[in-house]
Amino acid sequence: MAMIYCRECGRRYSDRAAACPKCGYREYDWSKSMVVYLLLCWFLGIFGAHRFYAGKIGTGICMLLLTCSIYGIFITGIWALIDFIIGVCNISTPQNIFAFKKK
Ligand SMILES: [Zn+2]
Repeated sequence: MAMIYCRECGRRYSDRAAACPKCGYREYDWSKSMVVYLLLCWFLGIFGAHRFYAGKIGTGICMLLLTCSIYGIFITGIWALIDFIIGVCNISTPQNIFAFKKK
């Protein structure tokens, strides 16, 4: 059993608890969202879909525009592949990838 810090109020509590006992903040289900993230990255990565999903709208639009230009696909193809590899490497610490938080 590990102790985690509440993102909202900073209190330590068991990672097995569904929500923070003090403020009720729910930890996002990272493992499930990471699967979606990686699937989006793999199949729709060149369109920046996984970046939109992770709340990184700016770079998502950037990838979308690059893919719409013909030559940009080569860049976004590699970009998406790198994002996928980073995503796999960070699957245990996806807080680094996800900017959004669930209420
Ligand atoms: Zn809390």
